[in-house]
Amino acid sequence: MSQNHNKGQIYFCPMHPSVRQPKAAKCPRCGMALLPEGTRFGMLRHMTQRPLLLIAMVAVMVAVMVAVMVVVMAMMRG
Ligand SMILES: [Zn+2]
Repeated sequence: MSQNHNKGQIYFCPMHPSVRQPKAAKCPRCGMALLPEGTRFGMLRHMTQRPLLLIAMVAVMVAVMVAVMVVVMAMMRG
């Protein structure tokens, strides 16, 4: 229940991998917000934070592809 005090989680600066802090903070060199270790990019971090959104996006893409294939096959059969 205490995700803000996640023990063992290391935060690092994407621009300065040598900058590592045991808590969410800002890089002392560039002032950039540190990212949790294990995630390299902010976008990837957002996606992993919302797995349901990612699954929904994939499901929609698959549904569209199947619909297009069905239409194309129907047209080819004349
Ligand atoms: Zn930095």
